[in-house]
Amino acid sequence: VTFASLALAEPLLRAIGEAGYTHPTPIQAQAIPLVMQGGDLMAAAQTGTGKTAGFTLPILHHLVTKPKRATPGKPRCLILTPTRELAAQVEESVQTYGKHVDVTSMVMFGGVGMNPQIAGLRKPLDILVATPGRLLDHIGQKTLSLAEVEILVLDEADRMLDMGFIRDIKKVLALLPKQRQNLLFSATFSDEIKALADGLMNKPGYVEV
Ligand code: AMP
Repeated sequence: VTFASLALAEPLLRAIGEAGYTHPTPIQAQAIPLVMQGGDLMAAAQTGTGKTAGFTLPILHHLVTKPKRATPGKPRCLILTPTRELAAQVEESVQTYGKHVDVTSMVMFGGVGMNPQIAGLRKPLDILVATPGRLLDHIGQKTLSLAEVEILVLDEADRMLDMGFIRDIKKVLALLPKQRQNLLFSATFSDEIKALADGLMNKPGYVEV
């Protein structure tokens, strides 16, 4: 398998080449085609497997091939992560792979001031990477709406549950459009994760590495 054979948009292939990647990792080779088909996905993958590109590349491909004018404060893709470090890393990957496409992204997490994030939400936004608590703070302030979300990613879902985010995640889920694509990445598939997935996923594809 090559990245070109996955039929990703040319500007994405160029960014991948510039990142020095020659071949997709196993999780990428499996996940990218499934996500590009538009279905829900559950993936068992640890950090270090290349999982981040496994979801950011097909998401960027979707946004590039189905363009819409980005709206301030109304992202088309929401990526939830357990920690601010992971949120920042994921958004950096979006920037790296998206450097040749006209897609906008921002990251938000707690422990820092709201105001710079509120200012960021006044600019057109396609992809929002966020930790759950701060995301809900912004929704409460009405500076952010999830009404336009087409793709939801729960990254490191097991860690989010371990950190006690289940209530926040459920609040977020209730605010999303019913019609959307769901991607869930987790190192392990505990009963708790399966229960969350049951209430969330629509005939998901499964990938394990
Ligand atoms: P992740 O598991 O998403 O945290 O990625 C782990 C590391 O692998 C990151 O530093 C990526 O830059 C790198 N990486 C991701 N995909 C590839 C690839 N196809 N070839 C080489 N390195 C990659």
